[in-house]
Amino acid sequence: MSYGYHCEECEEAIFPAAPRTDITWLKNRQHLVKEVQSHVHGGLDTWIVEGIEFLDKHVGHSIVVTQKR
Ligand SMILES: [Zn+2]
Repeated sequence: MSYGYHCEECEEAIFPAAPRTDITWLKNRQHLVKEVQSHVHGGLDTWIVEGIEFLDKHVGHSIVVTQKR
């Protein structure tokens, strides 16, 4: 089972390679992570970069944590 983000407005979803706890953590701390990202050069995990990109693209939209079997 993998977990990811689903934008209810665009009907788009991504499933970064991370456990649900991390997926939820990133969603709740996206502003903090973005702040850190601007000071780290090439150091963040791929799933974080993917996740932030998605959350950024759908800012202001209704994004839910979802699962796929
Ligand atoms: Zn969207």
